Amino acid sequence: MRSGILFDIDGTLLYARGIGRTAFGNAFLAAYGVPYPDIAGLCFVGATDSNVVRNMAAACGIPSTTAREEHFFLRLAHDIDAALAQNKPHLYPGIPELVARLGQRGHALGIITGNVRATAWSKLRHAGLDHAFTFGAYGDEHHDRTAIASLALARAPADATVNMLIGDTPLDVQAAKANGLIAVAVATGWISADELAAAGADLVLPDFSNTDDSVTRLEALL
Ligand SMILES: [Mg+2]
Repeated sequence: MRSGILFDIDGTLLYARGIGRTAFGNAFLAAYGVPYPDIAGLCFVGATDSNVVRNMAAACGIPSTTAREEHFFLRLAHDIDAALAQNKPHLYPGIPELVARLGQRGHALGIITGNVRATAWSKLRHAGLDHAFTFGAYGDEHHDRTAIASLALARAPADATVNMLIGDTPLDVQAAKANGLIAVAVATGWISADELAAAGADLVLPDFSNTDDSVTRLEALL
């Protein structure tokens, strides 16, 4: 049986250069009919897109219906894709090499993200990572990251068992632990290595710049 490894996207694989914030504002106006008053104050770290838009609607006193959320996510994905085509995501050090090496060594790589499906694959495609991942679960499937991780587990290829989750926030560590997975945290996002260790990660790395060392340390835990 092969090992399966789940990766978070934002803060772990790449940084989309803040384009999501502007896109959230435009999509909210389009789908909910009012401008959101505090785009700069939105917090995306470890969040799911579903949760963020529901909180935005609640703050404006507007019911967040399924139809509005669908409209919002379609517009969001469209705008993010267009923006990323102009301004490619920033890949963290060693990421292309790490995912290529893990794939060559037979591990099945999957995605666990709070991004909605279309946005997740848009970011991966514009970062050149879309062929490295073969399964995943997304922010339009559930508002809770732990539940999204459970969905991803169930979608691993038939010859693989997921046993590790790699992310950049305490919520990723929590999602890993709640699903019985080894929790690996990387401090390339917005949370310090100390905070990630305190959250209970089994391994915390500053980044994945050293491919040989990173693969050795990950495989030692599998
Ligand atoms: Mg993240």
